Amino acid sequence: MLKNIHIVLIGLALFILLQTFLDTVFAVFATIVIMLSWIAFNIFFIKHSLFIKSICRIQTKEKIVFLSFDDGPCDQFTPVILDILKRNNVKALFFCIGQHAKAYPHLVHRISDEGHLIGNHTYSHNWKNAFKPSSIIEAETNHANNILFEITGSKPDLFRPPFGITNPSIAKMLKGSGMHSIGWDIRSFDTISKDSQKLIRRISEKLRPGSIILLHDNREITSRILNELIQTIQNKGYKIVSLADV
Ligand SMILES: [Zn+2]
Repeated sequence: MLKNIHIVLIGLALFILLQTFLDTVFAVFATIVIMLSWIAFNIFFIKHSLFIKSICRIQTKEKIVFLSFDDGPCDQFTPVILDILKRNNVKALFFCIGQHAKAYPHLVHRISDEGHLIGNHTYSHNWKNAFKPSSIIEAETNHANNILFEITGSKPDLFRPPFGITNPSIAKMLKGSGMHSIGWDIRSFDTISKDSQKLIRRISEKLRPGSIILLHDNREITSRILNELIQTIQNKGYKIVSLADV
């Protein structure tokens, strides 16, 4: 995994290469533009695992997939989602935001009691924190972990970076905490989608063995489509399992 020092060394190597056929000023300019574009491209694509090894899909030939729900718990939709999961006997993974867990501890209890896994999704889910020093990122995730520990009695060892943003500071925090980063193979876009059928189609057409599906338990549309989504996934011959079982 790349660290800040590696990025500096790659930038230097690129500059030396560009300087062989460009003026120094142009070589500096081109190096900065190329490096910034490359870093920005990788920061926002968790699947590339450039800075952190994130599990986005389980390597398997078995037709199994995993449901994950981010940004809850939410008093309006998390209970509906839990009811549907229970009815279908499906276990999922919930990446809880610390301040939401603090507001709705009974929902965190329910998630845990009903056999779902709970992961850390930071305390405040503020994207700006990703660009602050690793000590601040560490405080954010520790704060969320302490709240989840107080409620459930166990500290999560799974972490999902808000917005899928990864960088060397988040990598440093993860290394210190011992948590594993979990990404996704299928992004549902349920945060912006307005069309239920299109949303179900988008997910079901991308299914492959081992896919981790990203959903949100604070979205009305997600609570509305979930039952049909589970049926569609199962009708395609896939079994929805818990990450705890692999
Ligand atoms: Zn999120």
